Amino acid sequence: MTTAAESTVTFDGRFARELAELAVPWQAEEAQDPKLLVLNEALADELGLDPGYLRTPEGVRLLVGNRIPEGATPVAQAYAGHQFGGYSPLLGDGRALLLGEITDSNGRLRDIHLKGSGRTPFARAGDGRAVVGPMLREYLVSEAMHALGIPTTRSLAVVGTGRLVRRDDMLPGAVLARVAASHLRVGSFQYARATDNIELLRRLADHAISRHYPAAADADNPYLALFAGVVSSQASLLAQWMLVGFVHGVMNTDNMTISGETIDYGPCAFMDAFNPAAVYSSIDVGGRYAYANQPVIAEWNLARLAESMLPLINEDQEQAVAPAVEALGAFRKQYSDAWFAGMKTKLGLPAGDAGTPESGTASELVDGAIAILKDGPVDYTQFFRNLGQAARGNFKPVRGMVLDLSAFDAWAERWQSLKPDADLMDQVNPVYIPRNHLVEEALAAATEGDMEPFTGLLEAVRAPYRERPGLERYAEGAPEEFGNYMTFCGT
Ligand code: AMP
Ligand code: MG
Repeated sequence: MTTAAESTVTFDGRFARELAELAVPWQAEEAQDPKLLVLNEALADELGLDPGYLRTPEGVRLLVGNRIPEGATPVAQAYAGHQFGGYSPLLGDGRALLLGEITDSNGRLRDIHLKGSGRTPFARAGDGRAVVGPMLREYLVSEAMHALGIPTTRSLAVVGTGRLVRRDDMLPGAVLARVAASHLRVGSFQYARATDNIELLRRLADHAISRHYPAAADADNPYLALFAGVVSSQASLLAQWMLVGFVHGVMNTDNMTISGETIDYGPCAFMDAFNPAAVYSSIDVGGRYAYANQPVIAEWNLARLAESMLPLINEDQEQAVAPAVEALGAFRKQYSDAWFAGMKTKLGLPAGDAGTPESGTASELVDGAIAILKDGPVDYTQFFRNLGQAARGNFKPVRGMVLDLSAFDAWAERWQSLKPDADLMDQVNPVYIPRNHLVEEALAAATEGDMEPFTGLLEAVRAPYRERPGLERYAEGAPEEFGNYMTFCGT
């Protein structure tokens, strides 16, 4: 029977068809008593899926993988990956399925993926399940990232499964329906390379070019152009994370996309007080994925991608190394340029590095701002937003945040002499981010069945740059007693 939703949307199984060696056909575990917790109606519309249908019992079954739409071939994807620096030759979707791809209303191909849908052949010791808190965290943070203008996978829905799942406690189970440009990861290339099947590796690269870097197909060396494209996308992405104070938390190569979208929100967090060493993941004891390390880690991950792609870049791998190293070498400059341009905008300064004798150069001003933040503790998000008020002549809020007032005033006088653009600042410096204490509050309530705090926070972060009366609590920093924030990998 053709339903309303399925008459407008056709699922494809392009990944499963073109890359069968990386796709294990599999079925979701039956959800006992599925209950829709949150649905992204705007995203459903964009995908051409009828939100009304998705709210019906049949629509909810589709969102947990228990109703397979026509044309869909659910598969668990195989990939490898370096986790905290150590190589695992076989990871793969242990608790997730790619339901299939659909063409959205803008003509873009999007993956519909289910996380928490039960054990797969890649599950190892895992139970294949996910619980309400972490799935809502991914929903919330990914939607906040999207609203901030940062490339990310999206969240279509979270459905409670009605099953209790064993973690430290027994917790309510859930499935996240995730939407992505694709789920190709650095780890996908590592896996294909490790098979020694160069034809498979080439097919994977061709698939990636066609989906994400179509211009690379016309380059002299399409595979080198593909690699250079990923380097550029990731350099831009990392700059955006750093500018907004986002810490991913688990930048393993299997959690880094080829598309340049942020993926796999686990123990992630937005910094409260500026701190280059900020780590929020309880398992990251060495601080490998600390805030300030992220660009270096991205570059390290891209080096692993380059290694995997060498046989494509040149049949003679010796000959492939120099161009791959050169392409990877572009990362640092692209990252720094993007970060510096973004910092100038955060400070309301025009493009270019021109300053005046009174102000000093823009890069000196940026360095000066970072020095003030480091002198902290200064709330990173509030600092820039309050600086926007200072650009309008009200220095009180920002001066109330800094310790060394004379150093700040000297810097501010130089900065103000360039007539910073307050409106520009308000377009890039958010008022509302998913504050850690509010995220925890919202997830704890949702786990107990109360979705209201979650809904309120989601509304705030969906329009992060527009200050609204009544939402003051979402702009405030963490209360003193919140202490050092840690998220646990019990995802
Ligand atoms: P992550 O760090 O969440 O990206 O996951 C790393 C790997 O562990 C992936 O291969 C996941 O599929 C797998 N994994 C994580 N949690 C579970 C689970 N509860 N059951 C099975 N596999 C899991
Ligand atoms: Mg992952």
